[in-house]
Formats: sequence, structure tokens, C-alpha cells
Amino acid sequence: MLDNDATNDDLPVLSDLFKLYKTTERLKLCLYTDSIKIYKTKLKATQQSDALDSYTILDTSKIYSMNDIVGCSIGKGEHSNDLKAYLTIYIYPIGNKKTLKRKRCTLELEYDKHSTFDKNLDSIKEWSIKLNAILSKNNETEADQQKPFLVYINPNSGAGKAKNIFFERIVPLWAEANVPYKVIMTKYANFAYDQVEQLNIKEFRGILVVSGDGLVYEVINGLMKRSDWQEAIKIPIGQLPGGSGNALSSSIAYAAKEAHGNLSIESFAMHMAFLTAKYDVLPMDLAAFDFTMPKDKRKINNNKLLLESNGRIYSFLTLEWAIVADVDLESEKYRFLGGLRFVVGAVNRIINLNVYHGRISFLPSSGTYIPKNKSIKVKKPERDNSQASNIASEDDSSARGVNGPSLKYLTPLNQPLPDNWVVIEDNFVFFLVVLKSMIAKDFNAWPDAKLDNDDMLLVFIKEGITKIQLLQMFTETETGNYLNHELVESVKIKAFRLEPLCEKGHLMVDGEAVPYGPIQGESLSPILNCIAKRIQSV
Ligand code: ADP
Ligand code: MG
Repeated sequence: MLDNDATNDDLPVLSDLFKLYKTTERLKLCLYTDSIKIYKTKLKATQQSDALDSYTILDTSKIYSMNDIVGCSIGKGEHSNDLKAYLTIYIYPIGNKKTLKRKRCTLELEYDKHSTFDKNLDSIKEWSIKLNAILSKNNETEADQQKPFLVYINPNSGAGKAKNIFFERIVPLWAEANVPYKVIMTKYANFAYDQVEQLNIKEFRGILVVSGDGLVYEVINGLMKRSDWQEAIKIPIGQLPGGSGNALSSSIAYAAKEAHGNLSIESFAMHMAFLTAKYDVLPMDLAAFDFTMPKDKRKINNNKLLLESNGRIYSFLTLEWAIVADVDLESEKYRFLGGLRFVVGAVNRIINLNVYHGRISFLPSSGTYIPKNKSIKVKKPERDNSQASNIASEDDSSARGVNGPSLKYLTPLNQPLPDNWVVIEDNFVFFLVVLKSMIAKDFNAWPDAKLDNDDMLLVFIKEGITKIQLLQMFTETETGNYLNHELVESVKIKAFRLEPLCEKGHLMVDGEAVPYGPIQGESLSPILNCIAKRIQSV
């Protein structure tokens, strides 16, 4: 228990005199529930008294917000005859207001009020206990706070740096914050998917992946496959950036107004280590996607996740088709470039631009949709099954969803759609359904998105855009301004169906390839919890 819950200057939880490490400067340290304040005195070292009220806030005084402090440690000096006790406080304040980059600093203090080391240590222990009590003040029980994070590292993600990133960038900060964890290296694709199915969820405080978005997708689909999915999917999940596309981390940082795009992956990992150490849990939405299962299972490379899915998978991020999927898939070979791979891939694809014939059907969230581009013809769904006739007949949609949430809007893939849907059949260049803000470090696909939208954003461009216009549009993906381009259509939707009517192309869900063919999806209200950070009210 704290002595008091005061947040004002008059009532500190603790206050006492310390010396800055290896200096003669005395200062008064006050612990409040929202900050640590350092009061100083103008008196020379020889004149400094023990009277706490002779210390005031001077220009050189410092205030450290509790929002930036991760933890503290206590200890003894190097020499056995040193009677002082030492307190170190670990702080990650924003060093640059423009870039929002955080910079580690420590407050190293000596305490020598008493004549024995043990007594000095006891006083310092009280500081440590009370500071930790303030830092861990959230809705969790003490037992939950002591549970470890389960961390999956994909050694093959991104530029192959995930393991180093974890041990060099995450672990040191977590050690300062006293965060317990258990690490598992994934051995193959779908390893984490297999494991979370068996996992005793109650043992862990959350599941974090050190990888890109593919491993997040594996974890989510593994949890959703469980017979107790309703309970299992509540375990908070998160990402520590280790892959080439770290959209979940970027979207979480974006929503929290924390630095993301302008950081190296190593620095971004430190920022996410900070954010996960501060541990806040926010709701996040998902989408259910139905894809067309091919008769020949070799077409999905015996991908266990897809084979066991019964044609229904869960996505937290994107469905990509046309140039978006091509860039994502074809840029795999530039994986060693990390996030840059998408830029190289996009330029390559714009030079060799393709168009894709297809039918896009969707249910606008507002009920209506008026295209910006007047050449786009909007229809109603056909009443009979003719539109759906090309959908693989073996696609047994009726077997879906037995174990998952029931859906509100979708009909089986081989059935006609309701009247209130909008249909566009055309040639397209760009197609994206997105659930989050950032789909790559430098691609803000949906600037208004939160983590729990309850909608998806459909973005598409029909044929007719020139290569120069498309290139120009891609330069505005970083800010999200690409949506304002006159040829870029975007609409908030509850559900969609995409029927590619051309032979060549790719479909990617959360950056993972899925069988090419009709696919549909519906946004699910926030059923997931993610380890994120709510914006502080100022
Ligand atoms: P990236 O951002 O680099 O694409 P992802 O997290 O998306 O990183 O992972 C890429 C792919 O690697 C995913 O398909 C995932 O299932 C797969 N994967 C996970 N663990 C391993 C592993 N140990 N070896 C090979 N592939 C793996
Ligand atoms: Mg990936």
C-alpha cells in the first residue's frame, strides 16, 4: 500500500536526501504517484543541511514522469567498508519532441543517512518497494503480474536479426523493468501455430512474437482453432519488431503516438520493449476470412494452418490482391533488406504494371457508396447463383465456423449476396482490405484507424492510372495522403467478397500467401487483447 495517492507537490509518497552518484551534490528526491522530482539547494556542499525544506525546485532541478520510468535497482558499493546504499532508477524519456525517440537515462543515487549499511539499505528498499508499487498499478492481480511473457522468436524473419534484437535490445530493458519471460525459438513455419493450440494459457501474462506479422497471424489462428477459443483469444498478444513487415508494432505505436517509422529496427525494438514493459492491454479487432480451398492440396504446399482451417482463417491486418500482393510476395527475395524490400518491390512492379480483372462486392459501413472516379460502375448483387458459379464447388463453406464466432454478414462463398451489398466488376491495379493503420513501417494505409475499428477499409484503384501517377501515389503512402488521390477509392466496410476473374495473381492475408480464388471477409467486433499503450490524457 502507498502512504497516499497524492499527485500534487505537497504530498509525496516518500522524500529524502540523496547524493548524485560520485558527486558531493546533495539533493532532495520526492516520489509522487505520477513523477519523481529532484529538489536542489543553492547552498554550497559544505553548507548543505539535512533540512528537507531548504531544497527547492531550481532551473537545474529535474522532474521524471512515471510514464517514462520502467524500474529501479538497489545495491551496495564496490568496497566492503562502503556504508552507503545505492539506488538506480531507469528512465526512458522522449529525447526529441519531433521524432518522439526515447533515450535511456539513469538516475544514480547514493544514500548515507545512517551509520550502518544495513540501515541505509533498508531505507532504499522502501523506495524500491514503493516505486515498484506505483509502476505496477493497473488492473492486474499481483499473481498475474508475476507471470512470464511467452516469447516466440522467428530466427528466419526479416534480415535474420530477430534473435540478436531480442537479446540485445529487449532483454536489457526488460531486466531493468523486472519483466519475466520464457523464450521459444520457432523451428519451422507454423511451429507457433501448433504450440499455442496446446498451451496452458493461464501460465502466461501474454504472448509476444519477435518477428514480422506472419508469426502474429500464426499465433492468432492457433488460438482461434482451440475448442476454448473464446477464452484463449483473450490472452494479450503483441509484437516486438524482428521481421521485415512489423505492422502490428507500427500500428500500436502509431495509436499510442509513440515513435515508429523513423527508427531503425533495433531502436524500434527498444521502444516496443519499453511499451511492453509498461504493459497496458487494449482491445483489438479481427476479421474472419473465407478462402477457396483448392482440390489439389499441393497448391497450398501442405500448409498445415490452411489445411486445418476448413477454409476459414483469421486476419488482424490485411487482404492484398493485385499490385499490393505482388509487391509483398515478390519482395520476399529482398528479405535481407528488411523494411526496404517493399520499396524495391513496388518500383519493380510499377515498371511492369499489370491489370487484374475481378469482381469486388462489399457492404459499406455507412450503407451507401458513391465512387470518386465517375467511370466506376456500381451494381447490385445478382439474385441467382450465376456470379458465384466459378467458385470451386468443393468449397464446403457449411463446415466453417463450427468452432469460431458466428458471422453477421457473410453468406457461403458459393451463395449469392444480399441486396444491400455493392458490386463492381472491372479491371483493377490496386486492391487492399486493411484493419489497422500501418501495414508497413512506411505505409500508413488507414490514418484514422484505431486498434479496434469494427470496420475494415477497402482501398482500390481501377485500371487507367498511369505509372507516373501510381509512383506518385506510392510516395504518399507514408503519410496516408495516398487516400486523397483522385483515382484512389476508399470505403469503410463491414464485409466484402473478392472474386478474381483473371488467372494470374496472388492473394496475401497478413503478408502470408493464401490460395488464389474467391475470398471473402467480415470484421469481427474486438475479440482480441493486445499489449499496447493508451494515449495519456494531458
Ligand atoms: P517477415 O516480416 O520477415 O515476413 P514473418 O513473421 O512474417 O516475418 O515470418 C515469415 C514467415 O516465416 C511466416 O510464414 C512464418 O510462418 C514463417 N516462420 C516462422 N518461424 C519459422 C522458422 N523457424 N523457420 C522458417 N520459417 C518460419
Ligand atoms: Mg511476413
